[in-house]
Amino acid sequence: MKQIKIYDTTLRDGSQGEGVSFSLEEKIKVACKLDEAGIDYIEGGWPGSNPKDMEFFRKAKELKLKNSVLVAFGSTRRVKNKPEDDDNLTAFVRSGAKVACIFGKTWDLHIKDVLKTTLENNLEIISDSIGYLIKNGLEAFYDAEHFFDGYKANKDYALKTLLAAEKAGAKYVILCDTNGGTLPSEVREIVAEVRKHLRCNLGIHAHNDSDLGTANTLTAVEGGCVMVHGTINGYGERCGNANLCSIIPNLQFKMGYRCLDPKKMKELTHLAIYIAELANLKLPDSAPFVGHSAFTHKAGVHVDAMKKNQLSYEHMTPEAVGNKRRILISELSGVSNVIFKGNSLGINLEKDSPETKEILKRVKELEKQGYNFEGAEASFELLMRKVFKTHRTFFALEGFSVSVDNRDGKIGSQATIKIKVKEKTFEHTAAEGAGPVDALNNALRKALEVSYPSLKDVHLRDFKVRIVDPQSATKALTRVVIESTDGKDIWNTIGVSQNMIEASWLALVDSIEYKLLKDGVK
Ligand SMILES: [Zn+2]
Repeated sequence: MKQIKIYDTTLRDGSQGEGVSFSLEEKIKVACKLDEAGIDYIEGGWPGSNPKDMEFFRKAKELKLKNSVLVAFGSTRRVKNKPEDDDNLTAFVRSGAKVACIFGKTWDLHIKDVLKTTLENNLEIISDSIGYLIKNGLEAFYDAEHFFDGYKANKDYALKTLLAAEKAGAKYVILCDTNGGTLPSEVREIVAEVRKHLRCNLGIHAHNDSDLGTANTLTAVEGGCVMVHGTINGYGERCGNANLCSIIPNLQFKMGYRCLDPKKMKELTHLAIYIAELANLKLPDSAPFVGHSAFTHKAGVHVDAMKKNQLSYEHMTPEAVGNKRRILISELSGVSNVIFKGNSLGINLEKDSPETKEILKRVKELEKQGYNFEGAEASFELLMRKVFKTHRTFFALEGFSVSVDNRDGKIGSQATIKIKVKEKTFEHTAAEGAGPVDALNNALRKALEVSYPSLKDVHLRDFKVRIVDPQSATKALTRVVIESTDGKDIWNTIGVSQNMIEASWLALVDSIEYKLLKDGVK
């Protein structure tokens, strides 16, 4: 099986994405996670461009990564500098990284208008910058910036830049679609042409501006590229970089290449969620392979067919990438979704059994009251457990009070709660809260974490409030849907009431019960 080297640039190119920002501590966590996943190369940052990245490399030396090699990124020397006097190049050496990924210019337009030097001089810059790195004991990868655009503008010159890098000793020459505008058919043709001229290993670095990052990467691999650059969840400038969470399973499951240890493939969804949490971004539900909806079925006809053969509406099995099949429950979906959902939870439901009828009856009643289980499958699972009497509660509420006050124009929220856990009574007050629900959540957690420490891992990813019957104005029903995560899974729970606090409370309690039942807490 042919091996493809995976080169992750989440920490460098990925952190150029809008809204993505990793602290030093988070960068370390990302690197450890990528190492655990078995990623071959981790581009840690650009030490020559900012002190945070230099500090990262200093700290990373203590990490003792098991699977990954850390790579420092940077540019070729400045036009007028000698290599040994160039800050960019000396920063590679100072970073302590063993591998340097150095980018240089391919496109004549950039050389003349941006670098303002001659084409000949640029070849020298590439060559002696790489030479300097190798002389200083580093392994050099060469990123040919704007390679595809440069090739289209001046093919002969673009190839000359690659040959200069190869001759100078670059271990990999990476073809970059920096502006992300190249089509797969062009990638195929150009990579084949490059392959004729170069003997060294080739890599591909694609951006997603035309929504073709994955397609271009796979095409380049078919054409002979043996290294793939990308980021987790496709984070990156503008529309992002090529998404490793899509590329890796395609290469490994569909094209017969080996990227990660097969055992690690099952952790891909967890990796995507974990990095999204650190980036403080919501992983899009529709993300292929790893998204919450990637294997989610709603239409009754689909669910019915899936019951007969799971291949009928899935391109692969969700477990292979550590994801889960989800069946959405709604009035429209009827009995087959309920049965299928039960089966997926290991509950054997028959079409005409009293339990199936009872579940459907409860769903219908609750939907009449404003519930909608479509976006709240964790609450639905609890409902099923209640019918089958496999549900249990973990605490009893004795009472709570929530108040909001305005002192000197400052709004404050407090909650007091009294609950009974394992025959002990806990009383807690969370004085602080961004709002009344936050205060209530804090108070409840404070009381429960003493007995159930695993709740410390849980936090809310999303909190949606919707008015179900707006015509009732301020007496309208409020539907609250909470999305929770423990860093491994994501689950949604629901509560409905005329009172927003109560609706939130019901959704919070479901979220906690779901977590504890899922973990098998006794
Ligand atoms: Zn890039």
